[in-house]
Amino acid sequence: MQLDGKTPSGPLQNKWDKYRFETKLVNPANKRKYSVIVVGTGLAGSAASASLAELGYNVKTFCIQDSPRRAHSIAAQGGINAAKNYPNDGDSIWRLFYDTIKGGDFRAREANVYRLAQVSNSIIDQCVAQGVPFAREYGGMLANRSFGGAQVSRTFYARGQTGQQLLLGAYSALSRQIAAGKVEMFTRRELVDIVIVQDKARGVIARNLITGEMERYAADAVVLATGGYGTVFYLSTNADSCNVGAAFKAYKKGALFANPCFTQIHPTCIPHTSDYQAKLTLMSESLRNDGRVWVPKNPEDTRQPNQIPEEDRRYFLEEKYPSFGNLVPRDVASRNAKEMCDAGLGVGATGYAVYLDFADAIKRDGKDVIQRKYGNLFDMYQNITDDNPYETPMMIYPASHYTMGGLWVDYELQTTIPGLFSLGESNFSDHGANRLGASALMQGLADGYFVIPYTIGPYLATNGVSDITESHQAFRDAARKALEQDQKLLAIDGKQTVREIHVKLGKIMVEHVGMARNATGLKQAIEEIQSLREDFWKDVKVPGTASDYNLSLQKAGRLADFLEFAEVMALDALERDESCGCHLREEHQTEENEAKRDDDGYCHVAAWEYDGYGNTPKFHKEPLVFENVALTQRSYK
Ligand SMILES: Cc1cc2nc3c(=O)[nH]c(=O)nc-3n(C[C@H](O)[C@H](O)[C@H](O)COP(=O)(O)OP(=O)(O)OC[C@H]3O[C@@H](n4cnc5c(N)ncnc54)[C@H](O)[C@@H]3O)c2cc1C
Repeated sequence: MQLDGKTPSGPLQNKWDKYRFETKLVNPANKRKYSVIVVGTGLAGSAASASLAELGYNVKTFCIQDSPRRAHSIAAQGGINAAKNYPNDGDSIWRLFYDTIKGGDFRAREANVYRLAQVSNSIIDQCVAQGVPFAREYGGMLANRSFGGAQVSRTFYARGQTGQQLLLGAYSALSRQIAAGKVEMFTRRELVDIVIVQDKARGVIARNLITGEMERYAADAVVLATGGYGTVFYLSTNADSCNVGAAFKAYKKGALFANPCFTQIHPTCIPHTSDYQAKLTLMSESLRNDGRVWVPKNPEDTRQPNQIPEEDRRYFLEEKYPSFGNLVPRDVASRNAKEMCDAGLGVGATGYAVYLDFADAIKRDGKDVIQRKYGNLFDMYQNITDDNPYETPMMIYPASHYTMGGLWVDYELQTTIPGLFSLGESNFSDHGANRLGASALMQGLADGYFVIPYTIGPYLATNGVSDITESHQAFRDAARKALEQDQKLLAIDGKQTVREIHVKLGKIMVEHVGMARNATGLKQAIEEIQSLREDFWKDVKVPGTASDYNLSLQKAGRLADFLEFAEVMALDALERDESCGCHLREEHQTEENEAKRDDDGYCHVAAWEYDGYGNTPKFHKEPLVFENVALTQRSYK
C-alpha cells in the first residue's frame, strides 16, 4: 500500500492557504443534505460537532459518558500553547512549529505541524470569544506560563483546570447546536463497530450502555475523536473509560494504525503505592515552572526532606541541563527520574519517587502567589497523600499519560478508509515521538474547530449523499457480531476478573514497553501478551447480562481490544530499532544516555495494517521529508 499524506505542494507557509483555496467546497444550501457522525465529545469531538453543525451539516454525536462535558479532556490541567507572543519574549509561528517538530524528535510531518502552529492563535481567539476564563495579567492581557521543551512562555491557562474550562467552551458551542436541532446527541453510547459499505465508512454500531441494545446509525461520513489508549498500561493518568476500542475497530476494518509504540510517560505524577490503586494522578507540568526536582545525594539518607540541607541534595535536572533546567521535555525528565531511582536515590515507601520542591518559590514569591497559580493542584495532592505541599516537597514519579500513536491520517485527517476521519488524540498526526506539554489541547481544538470543517468538504462533495440506510445488510451483520461477542464474553464464566487481567497486562507493558525498551524484553512482552490473551478468553469472569447497564461487560470488551492492540504496540517498538523521543531503545543511546536516532533507517511513520486475528499485521512506511528544518540531535543543555 502506498501511503499518501496528501501534503499540498509549495512553500510551507502557504500550504494551508493553498489547500483551502484549491479544495472543493460544498455549497451552503447543500450542506444540510449531508449527515456526519462524530464519535467523542472531548475537545476534538465537541469542537468538530459544533463547527460542522454551525456550517449546516446534520451531525449525530456519541459519547460514553452521561454528558458530553465529562469527556476525559476535562482532566487537562496545565494549559494550551499558542504563538501569540504576548510576553514579547521571542515567540512566533515558526518557533512554535520548530519547537514542536524538534520536541517530537523529528518524527512528525512538517506540513501538519506548521498548520497546527498557524491555527494556534485562532484557537485562543475562539475560546476567549466563548468566554473561557483564561488567567490574565494585572493589565488585562492574557497571561502565559512556560512548559517543557520551550524557552518562551506561550502556554495559556485557567489555573490548573484549563481542560475543564476549554471543554465548557466547546460544550456550550455544542449545546447551542443541540438546541438548534443540528446536532443529535447520543450519550451513554459506545461505538462497537464501524460499518463499511463498498469500501467507504457509512456508519457505526453503538451499544446503548443502559439497555445493552446494539443500535445502528448511518451517515455520509464518520469522524472518530475518541481519545488515546494510555490505559493499556492499566495505571495511568487517564480516565478509567479511556480505551482503544473505536480506533481498534477502525484498524480491524482496514484503517492503518500509526506509531502505536509512541506513548508519553509524564514525569510528575503521584507515585504508585499499592496494587489497589485504579489510577495515577497527574501533577501538572506547569508545576515545574516553580518546583525544583531533587533527590538526596546519599542513598542511605532517611531524613525528612526539609531536614536535608542544600549541600546534601542533588538537583539532577538543573545540573545536567543548565539551559532548560527543570523544564526539559517530558521524556527527558522521566528518564532521568527513573535513572535516579534505579541508582537507589529514589525516595518514599517504594524508592520510586523524587521530590518536587516549592520552598524556594514560596520564599521568593510568597505563598499567596503560588496558591493563585497552583492552588487546586496543591489541594488535590494533599487530599490524596495527606501531605501539605506548601510545607513539604511533593513526591512524584513518571506515569503513562498520553499516546502520540493513533490512526494514520493524511493532511485532511482522513484515515485509509475513505469517509473515516480521525481527530485529536485518536490520530497520530502532529506530535511525532514525543508530545510537548500543552500541545494536545492545541491539536484537539485545531482539528475540531479549524481543520475538519474544511477537509471533510472535498470528500462529501466528491462522493455525494449516500443512499445506504441502517437496514442495509452490512449494518445488520455488524450489530449481530457485536452482540455475539457480548454473549461469548458472558459465557466464559471463568475465575479472573477483568481488572485482574488488566493489571497483569499493565505490568507487562510497564516492564517491557514502558520508559525504556530492548529487543529481548519486547520479544518476551509479545509472548506474554499472547498467553494472557488466551487466558482471558478461557478464564475471565464477566457477571450480569447483556441487556442492562453492565460495567464489567463494557470493560471486558475494552480489555479484549487492549489484549490484541498491546501486541501491535510491542511489535512496533521492536521494529523501530532506534531510539527517538519517548521511545528509548536501550541498545541505542548516546554516551550521556540520550535517545540516539537513526535517521537513515527510521525517518518514517510506521503504519500497521490488520491481517486477521493472531496474524502479524502488515507493515507500511510513510517516509518523512524535512525541507524546512535540519534534523539535529535534540539537546536541552
Ligand atoms: C490528567 C491529564 C492532564 C492533561 N493536561 C493537559 C494539558 O494541560 N495540556 C494539554 O495540551 N494536554 C493535556 N492533557 C492531554 C489532553 O487532555 C488530551 O490529549 C486531550 O484532552 C484529548 O482530547 P480528545 O478530544 O482527543 O479526547 P478525549 O477528551 O479523551 O475524549 C474522547 C471522547 O471519546 C469518547 N469515546 C471514546 N471511545 C468511545 C467509543 N468507543 N464510543 C463512543 N465514544 C467513545 C469519550 O466518551 C469522549 O467523549 C492531559 C491529559 C491528562 C490525562
